[in-house]
Amino acid sequence: VTCRTEAEGGAFIGDGEELVDRYRAAIGGTRKPIAIDVELLRVEQDPTLAAALGELSAGCERGLIFSTHDFTGRPADLTRRVADMAEHPHCAIVKAAWRARSLRDNLEAFDLMREYRSVKPIVALCMGEFGLPSRVLAGKFGGWMTFAAIDADKGTAPGQPTLDEIKRLYRWDRITARTPVYGVVGWPVGHSLSPHIHNAGFDALDEQSSVDRWRGGVYLPMPIADAWEQFKATVGAWVDYDGLDFGGCSVTIPHKAHLLRFVAERDGGVETLSDAIGAANTLVVSRQEGHHEPNDESAMRAFNTDYAAALDAVCAAMGIEHAMLQGVRVGVIGGGGAAAAIVAAFAAQGATVVVYNRTMSKADALVDRFNGNTGKVVAAPLDKLCDTCCAVLINCTPVGMHPNVDATPAEGLFDGETLEHRIGHPPVVFDTIYNPAETRLLREAKAAGCKTVSGVEMFVRQAAGQFTAWTGHAAPMDVFERVVHASLDH
Ligand code: NAP
Repeated sequence: VTCRTEAEGGAFIGDGEELVDRYRAAIGGTRKPIAIDVELLRVEQDPTLAAALGELSAGCERGLIFSTHDFTGRPADLTRRVADMAEHPHCAIVKAAWRARSLRDNLEAFDLMREYRSVKPIVALCMGEFGLPSRVLAGKFGGWMTFAAIDADKGTAPGQPTLDEIKRLYRWDRITARTPVYGVVGWPVGHSLSPHIHNAGFDALDEQSSVDRWRGGVYLPMPIADAWEQFKATVGAWVDYDGLDFGGCSVTIPHKAHLLRFVAERDGGVETLSDAIGAANTLVVSRQEGHHEPNDESAMRAFNTDYAAALDAVCAAMGIEHAMLQGVRVGVIGGGGAAAAIVAAFAAQGATVVVYNRTMSKADALVDRFNGNTGKVVAAPLDKLCDTCCAVLINCTPVGMHPNVDATPAEGLFDGETLEHRIGHPPVVFDTIYNPAETRLLREAKAAGCKTVSGVEMFVRQAAGQFTAWTGHAAPMDVFERVVHASLDH
C-alpha cells in the first residue's frame, strides 16, 4: 500500500495527519497489507509520520518499505539516501527509483541491489526509456520485487512494462543470477521486432531440453543515442560489468560502423567482409564459465549476419550452393547500407553485380569499393532497370515499405514479355523489405512467374545467425517466422 506524495511523482498533497490516517485505514481493513511504502524524505521531514512508523510497521505482514523517487534524474545524494533507508530501524525493505539518463544508470541500480541485498531486501529501479533493464533484471541481481502495469495505459511510472511484457516477453520467471543478457542496440529501438524473436527463441531453447533447463537468456531493447562516444561508453560498460553476463547484441542503425570500431579498439575479432562493408550487426562476447576476466578483449567479435542471410535466402530459392553464384548476374536496386552489404557478399562469391541506383555517384562508389573483389561490380542508372538481364534482382531501397505499399522500385519491369525473352527464364526477385511481407514488387514478380524471396526470410535468417552465435544452438526458425508474421499482422 502506498500513498505517493506530489513531491515524489504522486497526487497526494495533504499533511502528515491525513497521510497517517490513510495508512491507518489501510491497516485497519480486513486483510493486513504485505507492506506499506513510506517515502524517506517525508519520514525525515514530517514528525507526524515519523512518530507513527512503529504502529504502521506492526500493521503489515512484512513491515515498511522505505522509498525514494526522482522522476527527473539521478539524485546527487542517491547513495546517502539508500544507506539511510537501509540503516533506519523501521525500514524493512529499501526501494530507490530514479530516471535513467542512459543505459549505464542501470548498472548503478545493479550495484545497489548487490551491495544491500544481504543487509535488507532492496529494489533499485530506473525510470524512463533507458530504465527497462533494471526492471526486467531485478531478480537477477537479487532485487526483492519489480513493478509492472496491468495495462499499457495504467502504469505508475514512466518506462514501466506491462505485466504481460515482463512475464511473457521478458521471461521474468526464467531469469536467474546466471541468465545471460543480450539486446538490440539502436536509436530508436522501441519498435524493433528483435526482442520478440530472440526471447521466443530462448523460450523454445528452454523447452527443448529437460536436462539443462534455463539455457535461454533474456534479450532487451538497448537504446543508445546516435554518437560514437555514447556507443563506446555504454556497450563498453555493459561488456565489462561483472555479473551482468552480457553475451552480446544485435546492432542496428545508426551504430553498425561504431560496432566495428569498438571491437577493433579492444583488439577483438572483426570479420573481414564486415570490415570491407563498413558495417557489422552482431557482437558476441564469449564468457568462459566461472572465470571471465573483465576486459578480456580476445573474447569479443563482430560480424554481419545480414549479408550471409541474403546469400542463404537467394541460394535457397535458386536451389544452389553459394559457390555456384560464380558468374551469375545479380541486379541490386539501391546504393545505401543494405545494398553495400549485399553487393559485397555477392561479389565475394564471384557474381557479376549491377548496381541500379537513383544517385549514380553512390552506385559508382560501390563499384570503387567492391569491383574486383573476386566478382565484378558495375553501376547503372535506375531508369535502365527495365533493360536488365540479371538472373537475380534484389531491392535494397525502402520503396514499397509500409505505409507506401503501392510503390515499387521497378515500375514497368514486368510489363509485357520482354523480361523473360531477354533472360530466357524469369529472374529470382528478392525484396529486402519485410513490412509488408509481400511487397508490390514481389506480387508483380510472382504474377510474372518469378521465384520470390521476402525480406522476412532475410530478417529471420539474420536473427538466426545471431542466435546460433550466442547460444551455440540452431535457431527455432518456425518460431522466429511465426513471431515476425504475428507482429506484422498485428
Ligand atoms: P539507406 O542506406 O538509407 O539507403 C537507401 C537506398 O534507397 C539509397 O540508395 C536510396 O537512393 C534508395 N532510395 C530511397 N528512396 C528511394 C526512392 N524513392 N526511389 C529510388 N531510390 C530510393 O537504407 P538501407 O540501410 O540501405 O536500407 C534500405 C532497406 O533495406 C530498408 O528500407 C529495409 O527495408 C531493407 N533492409 C532489410 C533488412 C532485412 O533483414 N530484411 C536488413 C537491412 C535492410 P539514393 O542513393 O539515390 O538516395
